Amino acid sequence: MTEQTKFLLDESKLPKAWYNINADMPTPPQPVLHPGTLEPVTPDFLAVLFPMALILQEISTERYIEIPEPVREIYKLWRPTPFIRARRLEQALDTPAHIYFKYEGVSPVGSHKPNTAVPQAFYNKEAGTKALTTETGAGQWGSALAMACSFFDMALEVYMVKESYHQKPYRRIMIESYGAQVYASPSNRTQYGRSLLAEDVDAPGSLGIAISEAVEAAATSDGAKKYSLGSVLNHVLMHQTVIGQETLLQFEMADEYPDVIVGCTGGGSNFAGFAFPFIHKNLTEGKSTRVIAAEPAASPSLTKGVYTFDYGDTAQMAPVVKMHTLGHTFIPPGIHAGGLRYHGMAPQVSALVDGGYVEARAVKQRDTFQAALTFLRAEGIIPAPESTHAIKVAIDEALAAKAGGEKRVVAFNLSGHGHFDMAAYESYLHGNLEDYEYPAEAVEEALQHLPRVA
Ligand SMILES: *Cc1c(COP(=O)(O)O)cnc(C)c1O
Repeated sequence: MTEQTKFLLDESKLPKAWYNINADMPTPPQPVLHPGTLEPVTPDFLAVLFPMALILQEISTERYIEIPEPVREIYKLWRPTPFIRARRLEQALDTPAHIYFKYEGVSPVGSHKPNTAVPQAFYNKEAGTKALTTETGAGQWGSALAMACSFFDMALEVYMVKESYHQKPYRRIMIESYGAQVYASPSNRTQYGRSLLAEDVDAPGSLGIAISEAVEAAATSDGAKKYSLGSVLNHVLMHQTVIGQETLLQFEMADEYPDVIVGCTGGGSNFAGFAFPFIHKNLTEGKSTRVIAAEPAASPSLTKGVYTFDYGDTAQMAPVVKMHTLGHTFIPPGIHAGGLRYHGMAPQVSALVDGGYVEARAVKQRDTFQAALTFLRAEGIIPAPESTHAIKVAIDEALAAKAGGEKRVVAFNLSGHGHFDMAAYESYLHGNLEDYEYPAEAVEEALQHLPRVA
């Protein structure tokens, strides 16, 4: 066993292709439905929003899809990312488990999100797109896409949930620094936004509403603008698989293989990017790594949602997909992990949970911050509030190994750093952070509005 702590790959080891789990999915994909007709969508409906290269990736069943060279060149600004044995955390927990983490916080914007922002901007540029529209909650996705658009000299309109726009100005300023336009959502720039403002000028907004505005802005632009989504879709999850592919090589360097891997799930992209290459080994090479999706107890789509067809957005403009959902009208409580506040889940992740290939676990906000402090006081890195959910579950696994007196190799994805989230840490440190109970009634109400798919 090596005494090494940090496993770094040379740039030449940067993956040359993305891994497409559609080639190995144990269950056939469910159709994507048109939000108006609830019939399977045609490519021309999707072509209003996305360039053809991404539509083809969305439905492809090729196992590997080559990463274009200009995208790999940009990936090299921060990839391959480090893989670290958390020896000091192991000592702090006094566990026989070996704990590893993959660190995606080293990207310029501090999260995994540029792994898909860059190729999405690239394919749009190639297709002649002049401008993109998107939504952002706390601003992680908006800042990643703003950076990518600046690299490819494309304009970007970001609809940012109004509450965050006012309460979390620094990511907004970051987005503006990269040259993009940011609008507080609901805004008066779209028909849907205006209709909501007419009801309530102070409407705080939500991710589902911001998605609706960004989709409307692209769909009504006569082809001038396309729309970009930072999670949920198959092509987005696939772009993130550089994470897990690198991790497989780094585990070889460490001469170990994981018993358990963990990722946090908002829309499912960092989890999928980390886990899918391991699930590939489970499905095709007889490996038996346990794979755990960690989600917030306040927005628990995988553990409490229904696996059924639902709209991707609040205004029913986005496609209808089969996923674990809390209902498209459900607005999750205001937990600090803004990136985990989504009513649905990626269809691929949902299908794998439904089939028993992935476990899901819901964790409470205060427990995740407690786990974060244990982690950061041992390893130094201040995690994003989203990532703390994976840390909590990884620590629980390491403690279970200790209780059982067994060696267990546990790895988690540290999806981003928390440098813009210090207000959340301040609340926790001062005892002001709440735990939200599972909003059973609100979910029950929202589930009344599911589309009636024949
Ligand atoms: C956006 C975000 C998430 C959640 O999104 P996924 O698509 O589920 O990965 C998790 N961690 C960080 C740091 C994020 O920025």
